[in-house]
Amino acid sequence: MAVLVLGGAGYIGSHTVDRLIQKGEEVVVVDSLVTGHRAAVNSQAKFYQGDLSDQDFMRKVFAENPAIQAVIHFAAFSLVAESMTDPLKYFDNNTAGMIKLLEVMNEVGVKKIVFSSTAATYGIPETMPIKESDPQKPINPYGESKLMMEKIMRWSDKAYGIKFVALRYFNVAGAKEDGSIGEDHHPETHLLPIVLQVAMGKRDQLKIFGDDYNTPDGTNVRDYVHPTDLADAHILAVKYLLADNDSNAFNLGSSTGFSNKQILEAAREVTGKEIPAEMAPRRGGDPDTLIAASDKAREILGWKPQFDDIHKIIQTAWNWHETHPQGYADQD
Ligand code: UDP
Repeated sequence: MAVLVLGGAGYIGSHTVDRLIQKGEEVVVVDSLVTGHRAAVNSQAKFYQGDLSDQDFMRKVFAENPAIQAVIHFAAFSLVAESMTDPLKYFDNNTAGMIKLLEVMNEVGVKKIVFSSTAATYGIPETMPIKESDPQKPINPYGESKLMMEKIMRWSDKAYGIKFVALRYFNVAGAKEDGSIGEDHHPETHLLPIVLQVAMGKRDQLKIFGDDYNTPDGTNVRDYVHPTDLADAHILAVKYLLADNDSNAFNLGSSTGFSNKQILEAAREVTGKEIPAEMAPRRGGDPDTLIAASDKAREILGWKPQFDDIHKIIQTAWNWHETHPQGYADQD
């Protein structure tokens, strides 16, 4: 049995590939390397560079690897702000890419897929913490592109019997504990890596986008989850599908919220650095608070996240940043 990981050179994909290999699984990786890094992929995985919407290429990958029984799909764009200014990029790569992929999966008879959805599909939640059954009304094209992927999956299950698990991630932060793989985006837009770049002196200061939200300290509140824990949830979801369970959707979060100011304070404690910061106007498309109810994943998938302490999560990210000041740049 082999697992095909699409986007296996990206941040969460590379942690999942690594974890699958640690557990003795055979892994085939496809990545366009548009945002991913070849050096992030565990060397024991079989690697193909290419685009999943290139159907001839994908047919070749499946033909050369008949042991593939399940697909884990991370290969999507994920920047809220960019999606607000270039929505078609998101509907093309994320949504249309999914259609192309499913056509080939149906053709070759691989009918199990775990894919990255997002808390951004919920939009502005009416109640907190957010449950999987809550209304999904995205407020940005990124969330909309992922919700469309979920809907496409539902109908493809009914029509072609392609079973799926949609994993709705909250905010992902941290790196593998030994510091060998981590987060490296160009441009970097995410809160924690930016905070740590300021700590390292690579940026002058952090700009906190908005302090007039309806939250205790006025800054956005988010729920942080570690990529190793996410990786384990994907592996459990593959097992769930291979055991012939029905399609399903799960939130993946820690069920605890931290405000942007609290993340800054925690990063100051972990790094011992001053980390200058100033308030800045709101960024488009940010809901006040996003906290997951993630008991469904714990109950049904048996998911047991190991990183339940924000300081520990920040420490793993700091290990990665300190040992890789240029990210993967020296290795690619
Ligand atoms: N954020 C910020 N300054 C930055 C980057 C992010 O204040 O330089 C805020 C952002 O507005 C949001 C939170 O940090 O409230 C998390 O944003 P991020 O981009 O890390 O993840 P997202 O929630 O968009 O997935």
